[in-house]
Parts: sequence; C-alpha cells; structure tokens
Amino acid sequence: MRFHVMTLFPEMIGYVSKISIIGRAAENGAIEVLPVNIRDYSAEKHKKVDDYTYGGGAGMLMQAQPVYDCWKSICSLVGHKTRTVYLTPQARVFTQKDAMEFAGDEDIILLCGHYEGIDERVLEEIVTDYVSIGDYVLTGGELPALVLIDAISRMVPGVLSNSDSGEIESFSDGLLEYPQYTRPAVWHEKEVPPILLSGDHAKVEAWRYEKAVERTRQRRPELLEDK
Ligand code: SAM
Repeated sequence: MRFHVMTLFPEMIGYVSKISIIGRAAENGAIEVLPVNIRDYSAEKHKKVDDYTYGGGAGMLMQAQPVYDCWKSICSLVGHKTRTVYLTPQARVFTQKDAMEFAGDEDIILLCGHYEGIDERVLEEIVTDYVSIGDYVLTGGELPALVLIDAISRMVPGVLSNSDSGEIESFSDGLLEYPQYTRPAVWHEKEVPPILLSGDHAKVEAWRYEKAVERTRQRRPELLEDK
C-alpha cells in the first residue's frame, strides 16, 4: 500500500515513517510512505503557498493552485483519480473501522493543511473523505496523517509479524481489550489472575471476553450500546 502525503513539512513524515514497525514495513515493501512537498508546486516566484483570507480575519490560508497541481501530479503517477483524505478537525472522528476500510486501497493520498487550512474550492474538487483524529485543533495535518498511516498500516498484510495480532485488539470486535500480564507472575505482591496460568484455553478465552465487556462498560459504555 502506498501513502502519498501532501504536506508543507515532508521531513516530519519522513522521520517518523522510518522507525519501528512502520519503518520495518516500509523496508520490506509492505507499505510505502511518500511525502510530497506542496511548495514544490507553487507557481509563484518565491514558492509562496498561502495568502490572506477573503472577508478578513486572522491567519493565512493555503492557496488552491499548489495543492491542486500537487494532487494532479500524484494522480498521474498512480494512473487514476486516487482516494484523497483531507485531515481536518471539521469531520467525523477516524475509527478502527475506517482503518480497515482504507487498508483495502493500494494508493491513498493524505492531504495535510496548515495555518488556517486550505481554500475551500480545491477541497471541493479533490477530496473524497474528510477525517478528524479528535475534537481538538492541531497546528497542522502532519500528526493526524501519521496517525492514519500507523493505524491503516497495521491492517495491511505483512506489516505485523503475527497476522492475528491486529485482529484481536481493542475496537476490532466493538470491545476494548481485556487486561494483559507478562512475567513475573507476582509483582509488588500482585498476582497474575490464576486462570491465565491454568493452561485451560477455553477458560482463558471466556475470562478474557468477560473482562473485555467489563472494561468496556467501565471506560467506554457507549461502545456497548452500539453493539
Ligand atoms: N481553521 C481550521 C478550523 O477552525 O477548523 C483549523 C485549521 S488547523 C490550525 C490547521 C490544519 O491542521 C488543518 O487544516 C488540518 O489539516 C490540521 N488539523 C488540525 N486539527 C486536526 C484534527 N483534530 N484532525 C485532523 N486534522 C487536524
């Protein structure tokens, strides 16, 4: 899967996508993260990409022309109009279900805004999906883009070493995950629940399910209503 990231700060994307599981996935070819600098497409002499907003108000807005030309160049590289996600606080919040759906695409364009955002006219022409990562405002779309890259990549075959591990985590079945423990069996006088040491697989599964429901009820009760 290829992530084409339209940004004014490609170095932010490049750095994080070389580390840990995502970095390894990029190295073994399961995913490709391709930052594209929107500024390179500015038709202005000084490579300016922003201007004042019509109607007044504080802050600058990214102009339509460089964003559009950058997007066109990515689409022609891919060979067709490509799913284009604009990261914005003005959208519904990204979920695990979205991560699974987006992972079905071979190419995806992630558009990062900055300053006050982007001229509405170009968004109307190129954006297929509007996605927020939460109800708060960040300075730019780069961190949200990295959040999507991470969550989507985990759903791409070959990214996680154990192919099961991405499917049994929080949200995958509408529940938060059960509590987990590793060695030692006793720490700070706290014992690991004995059932986990019993070797009885069916009982362990039943215990985990019960704990997942309990935890979801305590921390995110609205998820149980959806279920
Ligand atoms: N003026 C915009 C508004 O009030 O909705 C906020 C612009 S924000 C300062 C600059 C950029 O950061 C946005 O264009 C968007 O790409 C990104 N951004 C900020 N918060 C975000 C969030 N919660 N989710 C996704 N992207 C976000």
